[in-house]
Amino acid sequence: MFTQWGPSGEHYREETAMISVEEALRIILEESKALECEEKDILSCLNKVLAEDIYSRDNLPPFDKSAMDGYAIKGEDTDAYENGVSIKFEIVDLIKAGESSNKELRNGQAMKIMTGAPVPKGANAVIQIEKVKVKDDILYVSEKVKNGCNVIKLGEEIKVGDFALRKGTLIRPTEIGVLASLGYSKIKVHRNPVIAILTTGDELVDINETPKFGQIRNSNEYSLKALIQNLGLESLCLGIIEDKKDTLKSKVKEALEKSDIVITSGGASVGDFDFVDQILTEINAEVKFKSVSIKPGKPISFAVIGKKLFFSLPGNPLSAITTFEEFVKPACNKMLGKETSDNSMFPVILCDDFKEKEDRRKYIYVRIKKINGNMYAYKLGSQSSNHLMTMSKANGIIIMPEGIGYKEAGEILNGKFIFK
Ligand code: AMP
Ligand code: MG
Repeated sequence: MFTQWGPSGEHYREETAMISVEEALRIILEESKALECEEKDILSCLNKVLAEDIYSRDNLPPFDKSAMDGYAIKGEDTDAYENGVSIKFEIVDLIKAGESSNKELRNGQAMKIMTGAPVPKGANAVIQIEKVKVKDDILYVSEKVKNGCNVIKLGEEIKVGDFALRKGTLIRPTEIGVLASLGYSKIKVHRNPVIAILTTGDELVDINETPKFGQIRNSNEYSLKALIQNLGLESLCLGIIEDKKDTLKSKVKEALEKSDIVITSGGASVGDFDFVDQILTEINAEVKFKSVSIKPGKPISFAVIGKKLFFSLPGNPLSAITTFEEFVKPACNKMLGKETSDNSMFPVILCDDFKEKEDRRKYIYVRIKKINGNMYAYKLGSQSSNHLMTMSKANGIIIMPEGIGYKEAGEILNGKFIFK
């Protein structure tokens, strides 16, 4: 328990331990469980994860098939070829893709065959159209053709009953193609989490309104919606919520009923009108942490209410976006059954000096360029957590660890591209 009430009922915040990014992530992933499975059309499963093993229903290909437009022959008929004297074949049929020949090919015969058509009985090789001469229904071959040449054998790719795709596989366009070729129009995947967004702040107006003095436009609702959309998920927006405890509390309850993950933006600090903390206590949420050693984004809280996850993100735009990417996104991925290890990091050579406060882990928004196989980071502008304009010029971040406050040009830090 982090929050306490004073003797006269006033609320105050205990100094809580700031935990590391790794520890925060470990706690979040421990609480995030893959959601139940549902059957969906393959095309709505792009970028989702398979929740069942898939076995082949067919042989692929289902027949010996020609890989080329050419002529089906018996390869051994060309064994005698030497010294530029062509071998002659009588052309006895034409086979289009989707059709087959009812004749059996005999020695000395050839059948014209199109790519993808079944190789006729008796034939064992196909010679490409570009390599032969034809005159008056006679085919002239001037090379030795090996048995099996240009023939894709029945079941060569996969056989009936063979294992095709493992549970947990990420469905990319290739997997959609594999599923289609095996005759699967629907597959089992984990249900998408529903994510509710509550933007708090009496100073906020919608983007179509003209802010009066002291007001600002509600950008977080839009960037959070876009971040959710970027994950292929849908958000549920409960609008701008005034800084009144009861109003916010009833909206939090409504959001918890309607979604799997609730995100609040703002109201997370220790100001007189920051109520998220108190509300979490009042609804008996299990608060897991309230502060992470990350800049921007330190006042992020994470709580669990039954099976629902609650993230209280800081109101500053850079903090909200950074903490969404670092903490909410992995939770969404785990709920979708995805692999959550982050391997997007790489070493980046600094092209400028970077000076920051030492204490927290700093996520510095920069421009990363690849030059002669090395990655380089260029400084952009103020890293103040309300400067969305800096982030908008950035394509990546570099990460300066806790305890380090200065790195000069030429030194190396880990970095990654953003919104990948
Ligand atoms: P808070 O976390 O509520 O103390 O807000 C921190 C800062 O972020 C303040 O300067 C707010 O005006 C700003 N802020 C809060 N919510 C939003 C929002 N939805 N869109 C843009 N800025 C916001
Ligand atoms: Mg506020």
